[in-house]
Amino acid sequence: MPYNKGLPRRRFLSAAGATVGAAALGGCSERAGERYTQADIDLLARQREQEAASKGKGPYGKQVYAGYRGLAELPWFELDDNGELLCVDDTIPYAIDVHAHLGMSVLFKPQLDLLARTPRTKHLLDCDATNPGCDLDLDIYINGNFTEDALDDLAAHTLGQGLWGSKFARTHTIPNLLREMDAMRVQQALLLPIKLGLPFGDTLTEDWRRAVMAADAGARLRAGLSVFPSDLDAITKMRQYAKSGARIMKLHPTVQQFYPDDTAIMDIYDEAERLGLVIFYHGGRAGIEPESRHRYAMPRHYELPLRDFPKLQFILGHAGARDADAMLQLATRYDNAWLGLHGQGVTHLEKMIQVTGGERLLFGTDWPFYHLGASLAKVLIVTNKAGREQLRADILRENAVRLFPELG
Ligand SMILES: [Zn+2]
Repeated sequence: MPYNKGLPRRRFLSAAGATVGAAALGGCSERAGERYTQADIDLLARQREQEAASKGKGPYGKQVYAGYRGLAELPWFELDDNGELLCVDDTIPYAIDVHAHLGMSVLFKPQLDLLARTPRTKHLLDCDATNPGCDLDLDIYINGNFTEDALDDLAAHTLGQGLWGSKFARTHTIPNLLREMDAMRVQQALLLPIKLGLPFGDTLTEDWRRAVMAADAGARLRAGLSVFPSDLDAITKMRQYAKSGARIMKLHPTVQQFYPDDTAIMDIYDEAERLGLVIFYHGGRAGIEPESRHRYAMPRHYELPLRDFPKLQFILGHAGARDADAMLQLATRYDNAWLGLHGQGVTHLEKMIQVTGGERLLFGTDWPFYHLGASLAKVLIVTNKAGREQLRADILRENAVRLFPELG
């Protein structure tokens, strides 16, 4: 889950106590110097420069569309009678999305009805708000499509989720997600709540599970769980959530401010393994989080748990985001590392396919940040050649069933 880089959010989080939780995890302070270096900072700057210089020049050429609706110019999509994007190719396997969210209402819990249907979904990158839509480039890391103004909107929205409510979040509902899943041939989605470390009103795991049950949508939406790694009751909560059926646990190093290899959280991995959970990490630097958080998400910090818990399965969300090359290298060394594809552009997707042969690549969308069709289109583009039919099925669906047999 990317989030905004604005100051208000930073103040909001620390005022809300998130930094207190992180301080309790500071087991690595003695080697803090090497945890994040000038070379790391330079690498991110270089990644942005290279992306700007090479976009549109990869194996798939220029891939810029006029908003999500603009994807209708691709062979697999059309616009329906309401002008909404529709996937019309019934040879495409029904997909499983391992990375989705619902609307968030936290802290003071502004009113949010997750069972409401609204005429249109306002994605956080609201690329169809205008007609024609905003430029949607599928050959860059997807958050590069946010303009500065759109990032400011995102900042306001993030605050609104905890205070006065968000006009975006009010459209991030179960009926709206299901409608888009129907249109995009996405059969099932794993919902990833996040424990933010707030002093109160921090119950997305419970809220989303309850909403899915109330909507009777459990066959299509599988609610996951999240704990704040340093919370004293984290293990108890994990047991309780696992007992209620959750199978996938979101951990977010940059939002929750911890290093994945912090010795203080090894108990969490132990328990996850015992409970048969799969860990979903936000992986790598998205580039739009506060800079002070970048340090937690360097790919090398994910290696120790991969190595020391070989029976525990880990999904590396966003395939490393803007640290995609290092994350890909890491993932190839461990059989328990799965790469969540969400966010990567088509050139890097092609590279991932060539390096992995498609093994352990998982389709994800990060809804409601983006329309499901943005991620689907990229997978269809890179698998649109003879001999890649099975690869397409593996990425969209079958790899997810290998990891979560109950979805098959
Ligand atoms: Zn996410």
